[in-house]
Amino acid sequence: MPSSEAAGGACARRRWLFADQLGPQFLDHPDQPVLLIESQQVLRRRRFHRAKAHLLLSGLRHRARELGQQALFLRVDTYDEALDRVEDALDVVQPTSWAADRFVRARGLPVRTPRSFATTREQFADWADGRQRLLMEDFYRWQRVRLDLLMDGDEPAGGRWNYDHDNREPPPKAATLGLPEPWRPVEDEVDAEVRADLDRWERDGLVSFVGEDRPRWAPVTRAEALQALEHFIEHRLPQFGPTEDAMLAADPWMAHSALSPALNLGLLHPLECAQAAEAAYRSGAAPLASVEGYLRQVVGWREYVWSIYWHVPPDYRSRNALHATRDLPEWFRSLDAAGEVTAHCLSSVLREVRELGWVHHIPRLMVLGNYALQRGWDPAALTAWFHEAFVDGYDWVMLPNVTGMSQHADGGLMATKPYAAGGAYIHRMSDYCGGCAYDPKVRVGPTACPYTAGYWAFLDRNVDTLAGNGRMRQPLAGLSRLRDREALVEQERLRGNAAP
Ligand SMILES: Cc1cc2nc3c(=O)[nH]c(=O)nc-3n(C[C@H](O)[C@H](O)[C@H](O)COP(=O)(O)OP(=O)(O)OC[C@H]3O[C@@H](n4cnc5c(N)ncnc54)[C@H](O)[C@@H]3O)c2cc1C
Ligand code: SF4
Repeated sequence: MPSSEAAGGACARRRWLFADQLGPQFLDHPDQPVLLIESQQVLRRRRFHRAKAHLLLSGLRHRARELGQQALFLRVDTYDEALDRVEDALDVVQPTSWAADRFVRARGLPVRTPRSFATTREQFADWADGRQRLLMEDFYRWQRVRLDLLMDGDEPAGGRWNYDHDNREPPPKAATLGLPEPWRPVEDEVDAEVRADLDRWERDGLVSFVGEDRPRWAPVTRAEALQALEHFIEHRLPQFGPTEDAMLAADPWMAHSALSPALNLGLLHPLECAQAAEAAYRSGAAPLASVEGYLRQVVGWREYVWSIYWHVPPDYRSRNALHATRDLPEWFRSLDAAGEVTAHCLSSVLREVRELGWVHHIPRLMVLGNYALQRGWDPAALTAWFHEAFVDGYDWVMLPNVTGMSQHADGGLMATKPYAAGGAYIHRMSDYCGGCAYDPKVRVGPTACPYTAGYWAFLDRNVDTLAGNGRMRQPLAGLSRLRDREALVEQERLRGNAAP
């Protein structure tokens, strides 16, 4: 979607494209000169998942190859080093993080409006203006009307806005959903070169990674991304809704799209994904509940999270409403590389992150985030960990999702109550507990489930802070009735940060 900014000479400038601006919509016209920078310092600053480093480099290098002479592709240590070598006048599409935004503005570069979202900052500010609470549900309905998605005139298709009741079922009594494997790319010589470079840099001690660099599973080109979208719409979307929140140990993908890496690299636009899903509903290829569930994610949650990132004050990053200060243990940071974790749910999810750099939203929220919340891990450190360990992790998506939604560090902007839950939730929504040494119903003793015990210990620790939250009244009343509260709290104090 070309921008109106293309008029008036802006397109005469060479456009500096970041590694998450790889789709055609980031150019004002197809022949616009481009600058691409591969900075090694970006990879050195953090201990990223190796598959993430692979994806970013592969995406940049594929784009450089596609653009040929049109692109000036510089492989350097720092951005500054590259920019000092470029003589052409440059501009940028607004980067996706505050830090990069400050950087390009400090360099005096003209900044064009973002191109990988359907909501501008001004539109969100207008919507938010005068509202007491910025509820996602209200935002999502506004998006549906404004963008004319899944609407029959002024009414939502099918007469209902929300199919959560039909969706979010427990998993079936089977090892997998039985769907075809998600779309997979065929690696090429660019991937081979990336892998060889990463091996060499690691050997030379220039960078260090977590996780495994298995065969690349996410798209890095527009053509690949379109194939992955088409595959999802045909094979997974029809099943998306009912099992959206369910987890199966042998089926990490379930019916999820696995398109977040492609969306976040700018290879797909959320509107085209939503429109493709709506077309499947209109043609009878996918049921309404699944299509509504998917739209809720891709033009509801994703746009909401993006907008919140720019809307909240700068101190959001350092908020810590529950005063959680524990550091993350090495077994977690290393994605349980040494196999120390006994808890079946947590060890399975950490293995999936190690192998894929990805799990769907419920393992992120209810297995990883929930554990960190219960143990009182520092929300900023956890946010940094998610950013590093996930192939789709970027600053804009991490802050609201991790600091806000999962850790309640913002005191309730993203969620009215903390997403803390005991083993009963995981038991209901997964098949993990059957194969576990712990028992989700037991809270004290050798078979006590660390999530069940952790849940009560979390409430015990935060009882004063949460007392004013009406939605926590019932759980806190339950806590006050626990006969073994003292023994449980002591048990969890002794467990500390040891691998559960
Ligand atoms: C603690 C936590 C951390 C997360 N970290 C990330 C992250 O680093 N990057 C990321 O893209 N998403 C993140 N999410 C949101 C969500 O988990 C992923 O977008 C989703 O699991 C990606 O898999 P998918 O493409 O199969 O998604 P699907 O289930 O197929 O959903 C469709 C699309 O909706 C979008 N989406 C849905 N929920 C969100 C959300 N809360 N925030 C942003 N986009 C959303 C994604 O683009 C996704 O591709 C996080 C959620 C939580 C609770
Ligand atoms: S019993 Fe507890 S630790 Fe084990 S899989 Fe179930 S929830 Fe996870």
